[in-house]
Amino acid sequence: MPCSAGPSVSPMGLTMFYNSIMMTQLYRKYGLKYILLLAGVLLHFQFLYAQSDTLDFKTFDKDLTDMEEELVPIKTNYYMIVPQGIAGNIGVYLGEEVFLVDNQYSAVVPKIRRMLRTVSDKEVGMVMNTHYHYDHVDGNRAFGKEGIPIVAHESVELRLSSPQQLSPPWPLLQPAYPEWAWPTITFKDTLLLTDGKETIALHHFIAHTDGDVMVHFRKGDIWHTGDIFVTYGLPYIDEASGGDIYGMIQALDYLLERAGPETLIIPGHGPLCTIKEAITYRDMLVSIREQVAGFMKQGLNLEEINEKVTIPPGVEAMDKKAFINHVQKMIEKHEK
Ligand SMILES: [Zn+2]
Repeated sequence: MPCSAGPSVSPMGLTMFYNSIMMTQLYRKYGLKYILLLAGVLLHFQFLYAQSDTLDFKTFDKDLTDMEEELVPIKTNYYMIVPQGIAGNIGVYLGEEVFLVDNQYSAVVPKIRRMLRTVSDKEVGMVMNTHYHYDHVDGNRAFGKEGIPIVAHESVELRLSSPQQLSPPWPLLQPAYPEWAWPTITFKDTLLLTDGKETIALHHFIAHTDGDVMVHFRKGDIWHTGDIFVTYGLPYIDEASGGDIYGMIQALDYLLERAGPETLIIPGHGPLCTIKEAITYRDMLVSIREQVAGFMKQGLNLEEINEKVTIPPGVEAMDKKAFINHVQKMIEKHEK
């Protein structure tokens, strides 16, 4: 798959260019349902670019209320809410109150509440943020306004309280969030929460950003990985926000050392997974890092490395060159 469309192509054109290639490949592989889902995702990106490169909360509130959502049962008292658009999966635990991991957009919070009422009469008592990206935590604006506690790594507070420039290939400017949307409980390394029935362990990693958290429901044997683990192909690593492929691999190793064959994994984006998919994904990242390191030792430049690095068949790469470039920079940084 071509990886660079050249500097003269606008972000909108670039997105559409990738769309047509991806659609054809994915239709062959997965059929219509997946294509419709992806079309929603990509249309959403185009909508964002068409508006401005600066994200706008008013636009979110006006245009994202119609986003379709599916409440997917995982096991008794555990669910995930899967969006049909650019938004992170929500993890749901029904305990003494309702615990949410990520919360998508403020605009869909009423819809999420309606869905939750079909399975519980309890109210949302706590929300956790896996990282600061808008498509996972914009719902903080709704939950925070009601005074519901928001738990996140301390970096998330810093990043939500000031404008943030995301890295290519999605170089959007995320404005500062209003104060009521900032986390109210922050931590540095690990935080344990319990409602007497379940222990929820939050583990911090510098991976997709510098403030990623994987959430482990210990009794349920379920993990929510945020965007450390995704199923849409090569992951997006937000280097401008401290993201680092070394940390991605380290976080996956941490997960895989603690997970078993029965463990269920909610990825940041994509369907419910097991360690099987997480192992394949982790091995892919290790392989790419090793390939890039080997070609760097041979003295190849970015263009040549990009040509030579192979990724597993069927894995989508919206911007392989940007990914390889990131890996190259991280190798240089770590080998200093
Ligand atoms: Zn993200």
